Amino acid sequence: MTINLIGNSFKYEMEAVCKLFFPFEKVVVTFDAPVTEDPRCACLRLRRTRKGIRLLVLVRYDKQTQARHQTVSSDTPPAECERLFACMLFDILAAFTGVRPGWGVLTGIRPVKRIHYDATQGLSQQEIHARLRQDFYVSEDKLRLAQLTADHEKPLLDSLPPHSFSLYVSIPFCPTRCNYCSFVSQAMAQAVKLIPDYLDCLCQELVSIASLARDCGLTLDTIYVGGGTPTSLTATQLDRVLTVVSSQFDLSHLREYTVEAGRPDTVTQDKLDCLKHHGVTRVSINPQTMDNCVLEAIGRRHTAEQTIQAYEMARHTGFAYINMDLIAGLLFDTAEGFCRSLDIVRTLSPENITVHTLSLKRAAQLYHDGASLDRLRRNPIADMVSYAQQALIADGYAPYYLYRQKNTLGNQENVGYAQKGCESLYNVYIMEEVQTILAAGAAASTKLVPEHGKIQRVYNYKYPFEYIRSFDEILRRKDAVRTFF
Ligand code: SF4
Repeated sequence: MTINLIGNSFKYEMEAVCKLFFPFEKVVVTFDAPVTEDPRCACLRLRRTRKGIRLLVLVRYDKQTQARHQTVSSDTPPAECERLFACMLFDILAAFTGVRPGWGVLTGIRPVKRIHYDATQGLSQQEIHARLRQDFYVSEDKLRLAQLTADHEKPLLDSLPPHSFSLYVSIPFCPTRCNYCSFVSQAMAQAVKLIPDYLDCLCQELVSIASLARDCGLTLDTIYVGGGTPTSLTATQLDRVLTVVSSQFDLSHLREYTVEAGRPDTVTQDKLDCLKHHGVTRVSINPQTMDNCVLEAIGRRHTAEQTIQAYEMARHTGFAYINMDLIAGLLFDTAEGFCRSLDIVRTLSPENITVHTLSLKRAAQLYHDGASLDRLRRNPIADMVSYAQQALIADGYAPYYLYRQKNTLGNQENVGYAQKGCESLYNVYIMEEVQTILAAGAAASTKLVPEHGKIQRVYNYKYPFEYIRSFDEILRRKDAVRTFF
């Protein structure tokens, strides 16, 4: 699809609206270009006239054409013109395709953050909903979900200690690479030689962060060790990293300590004992699906039975908070298969269940496979997500954090559900961007959240080899963070 922008540069939003309807299509954006031959194209023209600003949207969809236009006053801010363009484009594409994506033209990844923000601006719940419904075309279902999530987040946001931070530790290695993976995570077979050097650097960076936190008077509130699959490391390697954490940081105010043990085939008793010994309170054991055929199709070399064993081992080791992730929309999965997977996970009764929807980022192997894409196009993802929502709420879980990603199948969302009092604080704080996160390791990004003003980010190098090679630069960037506080 081609989008031609005339007299404006609203590239990001217009591209995002087109992707809602055509997630698998390449969108080309041109500026002030001549008429295109592309059978699917949109032209958005902004023109200042004596009467005000005239906005015109013209869409050619295969052999049909539709247009919308309106004139607004000449002092209308650019953001409002952008929203009006997005709504007109959305209306036309919805009419052509017969689809009305539930989040409307709300294209950001944090819809719940908007609810909290509008509430702090003094808007009533009714006014917030009316705005989301009328100005952004958010459906009633999504409004209900977003409000429910906001209500459950609120006490967690209110409990945030002042001058606190979360620590993120990145272990970007996995036993094998899932074929939908868009992270930088490397399969162990390729990464094994890098690991000793990687851990040397990581431990050094943790020492440097601990000193920074001490000097800046920050209190450590939560820790999240993620990746990748941190339990791809051996128990000895894990022990080394966690020993640096416990010896360098003051853990006396710590409220939550999570380690992702994502791939059940990496979970062993000695690793769980190591995590328990270091005070880890929460582990994540992620089936993604409980269907062995689907697991094989997506390149995960474990079975549903191994997931159950890993879960029981973790429970037996004394972990009171266990999260399990499922993905709706996996290749070869069906609505019935997804519901069956969810029902098996529900019988285990983990404290948290996170339901993701498959996002096809460019890095994913699937993105380049036409036959797979065709299957995915026909995936009944909305049914899966809706079943999960109803079943989990009926079981007493509540949605407590929610985010959206680009190119998500069916424009659905990712939702963390928790039993009462078992919500992950880290997930809420990272999603609502209310707490500083000091992050160590490859692809980790440090987020500096001031009391007032703009959030700043400091990025580490993405791949482990770059991280090791440019480690001095990483330390220099971390040191510069001091000036922020
Ligand atoms: S477990 Fe997660 S990080 Fe690792 S390869 Fe699979 S999707 Fe990527």
